[in-house]
Amino acid sequence: MSGRLNVLNPATGESIEEIEASSREDLDRAAQNARRGFEEWRSFAGLDRAEVFHEISRSLRDHSDELAEIMTHEGGKPFIENHDEVGWTAACFDYYGEIARDNVGYLPAPIEPQQLALVIKEPIGTVACIVPWNYPLLLAAWKVAPALAAGNAVILKPSEETPLATRRMAELIDGLPEGLLQVVYGAGDVGEMLVRHPGVDMVAFTGSQETGRKVGVAAAERLIRANLELGGKDPFIICDDVDVEIAAQGAVWAACLNAGQVCTSSERFYVEKKIADDFVEASKEFVESLKVGDPMDRSTDIGPMVNAKGREKVERHVGEAIEMGAKLVTGGERFGDRGFFYRPTVLVGVEPSMRVMREETFGPVVPIVRVDSLDEAIEQANSVPYGLGANVYTRDFEKMLRCMRGIRAGTVWINDPLTDNDAAPFGGQKGSGIGRELGREGLEAFQESKHVHIDPKIEKKEWWYPYAKDDEPGQRTM
Ligand code: NAD
Repeated sequence: MSGRLNVLNPATGESIEEIEASSREDLDRAAQNARRGFEEWRSFAGLDRAEVFHEISRSLRDHSDELAEIMTHEGGKPFIENHDEVGWTAACFDYYGEIARDNVGYLPAPIEPQQLALVIKEPIGTVACIVPWNYPLLLAAWKVAPALAAGNAVILKPSEETPLATRRMAELIDGLPEGLLQVVYGAGDVGEMLVRHPGVDMVAFTGSQETGRKVGVAAAERLIRANLELGGKDPFIICDDVDVEIAAQGAVWAACLNAGQVCTSSERFYVEKKIADDFVEASKEFVESLKVGDPMDRSTDIGPMVNAKGREKVERHVGEAIEMGAKLVTGGERFGDRGFFYRPTVLVGVEPSMRVMREETFGPVVPIVRVDSLDEAIEQANSVPYGLGANVYTRDFEKMLRCMRGIRAGTVWINDPLTDNDAAPFGGQKGSGIGRELGREGLEAFQESKHVHIDPKIEKKEWWYPYAKDDEPGQRTM
């Protein structure tokens, strides 16, 4: 249990640094410090909190290159993408610094005219935030920023694969009361210990469906709230009224961004038959033009996968699909003689029964299915137990509406794949999660509601005891 974490560079397979995993005593200390930080944070007015958040955002932006470099070394995502991630992380702090000032409660109509009814939004306490490795800073910010903005304390656990950028981010965050935000390190055993720790009042988790289920069960046993952002198997529908070249490029990008290791990676492509052959050809050409290699090189499009286990899973899915009759259009093999690279891959002839079409592959794979109609595409899109995101390309407004209404997913992107918006909720339907991050809902996830009912007059109410009134014995007179 616990011990040391060996952080590898996925581009080389070499060790970058070993760090100490947190012990039970570390967690006890963090929980105690969090309580103190929580009390002190109460004395910060909304405007003061916003100022601290804007300062955090400035500090992160000022260190974009450094943070992006660390993320690239430990996670393998291309530097360009990591640099963007720092900007989005900073933007999330700016956003929650402001909207928290605007969301402290509301006034419902009271029961009687002289009364006052208040709904006050209060913090929950100490929130454990547990995040994966693919977007270590951004996914931490989606939890940490709203949790703190709502008045909570946070204990953050990064993935054992990518603890270093998070450690640096924590050093750069200044102006919060001591103990309000702490980072603990470790693998699943430390994550579990955190969820089960009596000093933790809520858990906000992003990760796989399998781990999410365990976290949900552990939280339910303790009767604490759990926000779960889990995996996906996102469909992408391409209608026959679009420019095939642009659609293929958008589709390939949505499948191969971060080597396909995005929770909203597009993993299944349904193309209307009229353009299907052209789409396959355009995808092949585009995939073959991409530069795979050193993620630190600013011109690299696709870096390595995060680890050997992730690459083996992709190899299993692709290999099994080919054995079952799928045809490899391009890719389907490792790249380079070190690190965990896998060439972007296009498959056709795939069937719903293949794992590559129903389980999360989490790699740079574009499986393409020719469909006879939009109805068939929507039916197929909904055929898996996931419902995180979905993409559509069409110019036809009627088709947009059919997809918007017909696809069961937390986000439907039409003609602009994978664009997140801090101001709109993000999360999964069906087996892709419980709860939402971002937007107002992402703040409410970290708030308790307190209803306060005030009557300025103290008087005996006629519905109290005794029920037997003088005029009608035994009868309630209301
Ligand atoms: P993972 O589930 O293996 O690990 C996620 C985190 O949980 C890590 O920090 C890990 O140490 C911790 N953990 C492991 N076991 C635990 C336990 N029993 N109790 C508490 N914590 C535990 O996921 P991963 O491989 O790091 O990330 C990839 C997965 O995350 C994919 O399935 C992907 O789709 C998903 N993901 C989802 C979203 C989203 O917003 N829905 C975003 C990014 C990634």
